[in-house]
Amino acid sequence: MHIGRFGPPRKIRALAVGCAIAVGAAGAVASRAVAQQQQNFDNVQEDIVHVRDGVYMLVGAGGNTTVMAGDDGVLVVDTQFAPLSTKILNAIRSISDKPIRYIVNTHMHADHIGGNEAISKAGRTRAGGNVVGDLGAAATATAAIIAHENVLLRLSMAAPGQPQVPAAAWPTETFATRKQEMRFNGEAVQIIHEPHAHTDGDSLVFFRRSDVVSTGDLFTTVMYPYIDEANGGTINGYIDALNAILDITIASNVNEGGTMVIPGHGRLSDEQDVIEYRDMTTIVRDRIKEYVKRGMTLEQVKAARPTLDFDPRYGTPNGFWTPAQFVEVIYKEMKEAQGPARPQPKNQKSSRKGQTKGGGQ
Ligand SMILES: [Zn+2]
Repeated sequence: MHIGRFGPPRKIRALAVGCAIAVGAAGAVASRAVAQQQQNFDNVQEDIVHVRDGVYMLVGAGGNTTVMAGDDGVLVVDTQFAPLSTKILNAIRSISDKPIRYIVNTHMHADHIGGNEAISKAGRTRAGGNVVGDLGAAATATAAIIAHENVLLRLSMAAPGQPQVPAAAWPTETFATRKQEMRFNGEAVQIIHEPHAHTDGDSLVFFRRSDVVSTGDLFTTVMYPYIDEANGGTINGYIDALNAILDITIASNVNEGGTMVIPGHGRLSDEQDVIEYRDMTTIVRDRIKEYVKRGMTLEQVKAARPTLDFDPRYGTPNGFWTPAQFVEVIYKEMKEAQGPARPQPKNQKSSRKGQTKGGGQ
């Protein structure tokens, strides 16, 4: 039975139990979503980039969409914003006229799930005769929406004062394990959960034969890593996720080739791009960690400009995620990792010794 592919389907009502855990869902993200909904999408164009074999990247507004098409049908990773659904469907239809079978969500942010409802309704779940017989026509009415279970947990709770994401846009098949695998269009597709990175529900999608990985917001080319703390993100988890992408990618010796990387935002990339991004993120984290060890305050760390040399590339001082916000979230985490504040010793050397041993208590 196809539904069993991703483990027992976790019914939405069962999730009400877990919802209390998800309290604190990001006001920041939700308000961004509202702002984006007011944005005018009329002039947005969906650019189709052929990545390799049956895999394409759609660049419109919001997160990039990945389309994988073949004889079995179409699998879509992330769906941008709701008002773009028709444009996304038109782009998919220009690639393939086969049914849309699956949507995979890399995480729960509004700019990656907006088209879930419309695109899922335009598609249909891959189902055999028996399943149709058992479940009725509804079994094939929509494409399945697959995500880590934390995505469903977060979506099923509206952040205070924010509109609820409609249930029709929620994942229909969730998994709680580290990795889910399926075979589709003759290739192995791996959906790999990376815990506590950008959020607590991030997945990479690896198309093994095509040698393409779709990262969601675990990698972008346009901004510093966005650590969505309110939704379970952490800097160390983010660096782990970048290393996990690099475990998958293999560079090529020739000019073109090697594993292609579709980022959550920005341009089509390869292993070298991810290495640079991982190194930048690690360097900034380690600088701030060292400043915290020295007992510097947040204001002092900000004044030391630990991102200075990377700001021309990734700094968006007036954007949604500024260098200062990036620094602040790392500072907070490094401070917490260090343990409760201790009396400031006069001699720095003994302070360092004490910290390595005692760990704060
Ligand atoms: Zn995101």
